[in-house]
Amino acid sequence: MSKQQDKCSFCGRGRNEVKLLIAGLNAYICNECTLQANYILKEEGAIAKSKIATDFKLQKPNEIKHYLDQYVIGQEEAKKVLSVAVYNHFKRISQKNYKKGADDDVEIEKSNIIIVGETGTGKTLMARTISKMLKVPFAIADATVLTEAGYVGEDVESVILRLLQAADYNVKDAERGIVFIDEIDKIARKSDNPSITRDVSGEGVQQALLKLLEGSIVNVPPHGGRKHPEQDMIKVNTENILFIAGGAFDGIEKIIASRLRTNVIGYSTKKEKELVDKTNMMKYVSSPDLRKYGMIPEIVGRLPVVTFLNPLDKEALKRILVEPKNALVKQFKRLFEMDNIELSFTDGALTTIVEKAIEFKLGARGLRTIMETILNEDMFNLPSDSLTKELKITKSYVLERLEKNNFGKLQVA
Ligand code: ADP
Repeated sequence: MSKQQDKCSFCGRGRNEVKLLIAGLNAYICNECTLQANYILKEEGAIAKSKIATDFKLQKPNEIKHYLDQYVIGQEEAKKVLSVAVYNHFKRISQKNYKKGADDDVEIEKSNIIIVGETGTGKTLMARTISKMLKVPFAIADATVLTEAGYVGEDVESVILRLLQAADYNVKDAERGIVFIDEIDKIARKSDNPSITRDVSGEGVQQALLKLLEGSIVNVPPHGGRKHPEQDMIKVNTENILFIAGGAFDGIEKIIASRLRTNVIGYSTKKEKELVDKTNMMKYVSSPDLRKYGMIPEIVGRLPVVTFLNPLDKEALKRILVEPKNALVKQFKRLFEMDNIELSFTDGALTTIVEKAIEFKLGARGLRTIMETILNEDMFNLPSDSLTKELKITKSYVLERLEKNNFGKLQVA
């Protein structure tokens, strides 16, 4: 057989139609078919199951919260709400084997969650930490890149594909994973009234997402990208997948305030009116506000657990620097320790780092950039300097390093 005529003995495609054709004794197999065979083997359980735990222990809400406390600073309300929602979610899954009596038809509904909070306040961190604790597959999807089928962008199925990849293509594991959908507010329709200034694209994506949230069988193209008629689809049931959506919902405070005001004027007492904490309206966020913001009622209905994250103040940012299990200060100390150098920070240094993060509106995400800027030169020089055994970072050291590296100028938009 000439090279041009070589064909895959499984799908019949020729050498120039595939990336790779592997030759056997009297047959060939192409890269696509080896992948396909691999899925089949996994489906049949012929390949050892992935490392993801199959029989996880149902953690109590306070245990879940305790775990979150190690990584997420503050945000007490959200941590509690999330712990209960996750606990109920897994109870719901295990309920499948739990029947009180023959006529027991109580079915617990899914408790997908929506977290409202400014960017960088820990929404993703919270979702990721929970999945780490539960040892279930976890995927992050960005709502802004999703489109309705047929438009340029990613189909919503790509979200499930990502989860499937995180589960090492083990469909059963993926089916009880957690998906974090970031920036859900960006697909809000622009007007509360669906009949005027209808924002078709946003609403269309919401409709498409709804299918996933409701619990349905989704056909996932194994290689990603567009659906292809000849491609064999992987079927994933989203019924037991926990969806956590997050968004900043810029400007939602006004909607909350106007709702509270109407309520207050109507029938509340003067006392209640005074109790509203005007400095943090976000803590009163509820489903009607999300609808008013432009989320379709069906989506809001499928995200019944609504919680919020507080903006991070100076104190919170300072705690984030030192307290979490993998706090930045701990990470950098470890890096220096590996070169036998003891790294330390004065309280003034930490305060200055935090103040710079606030000054340049970098939030918690910016803390790392600031630390890198301060320590970069030392991380370059000290490993080859056997005489230096310690490095103490003070306020003036922080200011000097930031100045030297033009930090302020780099941050100006
Ligand atoms: P969001 O998803 O809300 O935009 P992230 O969860 O991605 O924000 O947070 C960005 C980074 O900031 C995280 O990786 C983490 O290091 C830090 N961070 C934010 N909020 C907290 C918090 N409450 N506790 C500890 N670290 C936090």
